[in-house]
Amino acid sequence: MKPLNVRPLLDEWDWQTRAACRGMDASVFFSPVYERGDARRRREQRAKTVCRGCPVQGPCATFATRTAQAFGVWGGLTETDRGHTRRPT
Ligand code: SF4
Repeated sequence: MKPLNVRPLLDEWDWQTRAACRGMDASVFFSPVYERGDARRRREQRAKTVCRGCPVQGPCATFATRTAQAFGVWGGLTETDRGHTRRPT
Protein backbone atom coordinates (compact mmCIF):
# COMPACT_ATOMS: atom_id res chain seq x y z
CA MET A 1 0.00 0.00 0.00
CA LYS A 2 1.33 3.44 -0.94
CA PRO A 3 1.74 5.86 2.03
CA LEU A 4 -0.43 8.97 2.06
CA ASN A 5 1.31 12.23 1.21
CA VAL A 6 0.08 14.06 4.30
CA ARG A 7 2.07 16.82 5.97
CA PRO A 8 1.78 17.51 9.70
CA LEU A 9 -0.80 20.20 10.34
CA LEU A 10 1.71 22.38 12.19
CA ASP A 11 3.91 22.60 9.06
CA GLU A 12 0.96 24.08 7.19
CA TRP A 13 0.19 26.76 9.77
CA ASP A 14 3.46 27.42 11.65
CA TRP A 15 4.16 30.63 9.70
CA GLN A 16 0.99 32.17 11.15
CA THR A 17 2.53 32.27 14.63
CA ARG A 18 4.86 35.03 13.34
CA ALA A 19 2.14 37.02 11.54
CA ALA A 20 2.07 40.81 12.01
CA CYS A 21 -1.73 40.61 11.93
CA ARG A 22 -1.91 38.11 14.77
CA GLY A 23 -4.47 39.40 17.27
CA MET A 24 -5.70 42.17 14.97
CA ASP A 25 -9.36 42.59 14.11
CA ALA A 26 -10.09 40.48 11.02
CA SER A 27 -12.24 43.29 9.61
CA VAL A 28 -9.01 45.01 8.49
CA PHE A 29 -8.32 42.10 6.11
CA PHE A 30 -11.84 40.94 5.18
CA SER A 31 -14.49 43.25 3.80
CA PRO A 32 -18.00 43.63 5.09
CA VAL A 33 -20.55 42.25 2.60
CA TYR A 34 -21.57 45.56 1.02
CA GLU A 35 -18.28 47.45 1.24
CA ARG A 36 -17.46 49.29 -1.99
CA GLY A 37 -15.42 52.13 -3.48
CA ASP A 38 -13.28 54.37 -1.29
CA ALA A 39 -14.12 52.51 1.91
CA ARG A 40 -12.89 49.28 0.37
CA ARG A 41 -9.73 50.90 -1.04
CA ARG A 42 -8.91 52.51 2.32
CA ARG A 43 -9.36 49.23 4.22
CA GLU A 44 -7.27 47.31 1.68
CA GLN A 45 -4.48 49.90 1.86
CA ARG A 46 -4.49 49.65 5.66
CA ALA A 47 -4.21 45.86 5.42
CA LYS A 48 -1.45 46.07 2.81
CA THR A 49 0.51 48.44 5.08
CA VAL A 50 0.40 45.82 7.85
CA CYS A 51 1.45 43.11 5.38
CA ARG A 52 4.44 45.13 4.12
CA GLY A 53 5.96 44.93 7.61
CA CYS A 54 5.12 41.28 8.13
CA PRO A 55 7.96 38.74 8.36
CA VAL A 56 5.84 36.00 6.75
CA GLN A 57 4.42 37.93 3.81
CA GLY A 58 5.85 35.45 1.29
CA PRO A 59 4.50 32.26 2.89
CA CYS A 60 1.15 33.99 3.47
CA ALA A 61 0.79 35.04 -0.19
CA THR A 62 1.88 31.59 -1.36
CA PHE A 63 -0.63 29.89 0.94
CA ALA A 64 -3.49 32.14 -0.22
CA THR A 65 -2.69 31.55 -3.88
CA ARG A 66 -2.12 27.80 -3.51
CA THR A 67 -5.35 27.29 -1.58
CA ALA A 68 -7.32 29.75 -3.76
CA GLN A 69 -8.49 31.90 -0.87
CA ALA A 70 -11.44 33.75 -2.38
CA PHE A 71 -11.68 36.59 0.11
CA GLY A 72 -9.46 38.94 2.05
CA VAL A 73 -5.99 40.45 1.94
CA TRP A 74 -3.31 37.77 2.32
CA GLY A 75 0.39 38.44 1.92
CA GLY A 76 -0.33 41.98 0.81
CA LEU A 77 -2.56 40.80 -2.02
CA THR A 78 -6.29 41.46 -2.29
CA GLU A 79 -8.57 38.87 -3.86
CA THR A 80 -8.46 40.96 -7.05
CA ASP A 81 -4.64 40.97 -6.97
CA ARG A 82 -4.76 37.17 -6.67
CA GLY A 83 -7.09 36.92 -9.63
CA HIS A 84 -10.28 36.28 -7.71
CA THR A 85 -13.15 38.51 -8.73
CA ARG A 86 -15.89 36.63 -6.92
CA ARG A 87 -18.07 38.98 -4.90
CA PRO A 88 -21.01 38.28 -2.61
CA THR A 89 -24.29 38.40 -4.56
S1 SF4 B 1 1.23 39.00 5.22
FE1 SF4 B 1 -0.50 40.20 5.98
S2 SF4 B 1 -2.26 38.80 6.10
FE2 SF4 B 1 -0.38 37.57 5.89
S3 SF4 B 1 0.20 37.01 7.96
FE3 SF4 B 1 1.31 38.89 7.44
S4 SF4 B 1 0.05 40.61 8.11
FE4 SF4 B 1 -1.25 38.77 8.10
